[in-house]
Amino acid sequence: MEEYDLLVKLLVIGDSGVGKSSLLLRYAEGTFSEHHLATIGVDFKLRTDTVLNKRVKIQVWDTAGQERFKSIAIGYYRGAHGIAIVYDVTNEQSFNNVKNWLEQITDHASEHAQLILVGNKCDLDRERCVDRARGEELANSLKIPFVETSAKNSVNVEAAFSKVVTKVVEDN
Ligand code: GDP
Repeated sequence: MEEYDLLVKLLVIGDSGVGKSSLLLRYAEGTFSEHHLATIGVDFKLRTDTVLNKRVKIQVWDTAGQERFKSIAIGYYRGAHGIAIVYDVTNEQSFNNVKNWLEQITDHASEHAQLILVGNKCDLDRERCVDRARGEELANSLKIPFVETSAKNSVNVEAAFSKVVTKVVEDN
C-alpha cells in the first residue's frame, strides 16, 4: 500500500465546456484531448506529491457532467479541502456564472475550503472576451487567488493546483 501523510480532496467547478475535465487530466496525467470529455464521467483522478515535506495524496474530482443541470449533488462538496472555480476566457456567460457557483460553494462547502479562480483557455487569445483584468478584479473582490491557464498548452495548470494544495497542507 502506498504511504501518505495527508489526503487532499480537490473539486473542479464551473460551467459545462470550460475545460474542467481537461484541467484534471492535464494535472493528473499530463495529457490533453480536443474532444469533449464530459461523457466519460470520470469521478476523480489521483496524484501523489511531496508538499512542504509531506507525502500528499491528491484526489481531484470532476463533476462528470452534472454541472449541465446548473447544480451538482450536495454530497460532492462534502470534505472538499480545495475548490477551483473555472471559467472560459472565451465565454462571457461562464464568467458571469462564477457567482452562481460561488453561491453553491457558500451553501454546501466547508468555510475552510481553499478557493481559487481559474480563467482557462488563455491560449485562445484572439477569441478572448474576458480580459485578464476582469478575472483579477473578481478574484480580488473575493479575496481568493487567480490564475489564467491553458489545459491545452499546459500553462499554469500545475501552478493553479499547487497553490491550493500548498495552502491545504499548511492548514492541516
Ligand atoms: P468540461 O465540460 O468543463 O469538463 O470541459 P472539457 O474539459 O470537456 O473541455 C471542453 C472543450 O474545451 C474540449 O473540446 C477541450 O478540448 C477544450 N479545451 C479545454 N481546455 C482547453 C484549453 O486550455 N484551450 C483550448 N484551446 N481548448 C480547451
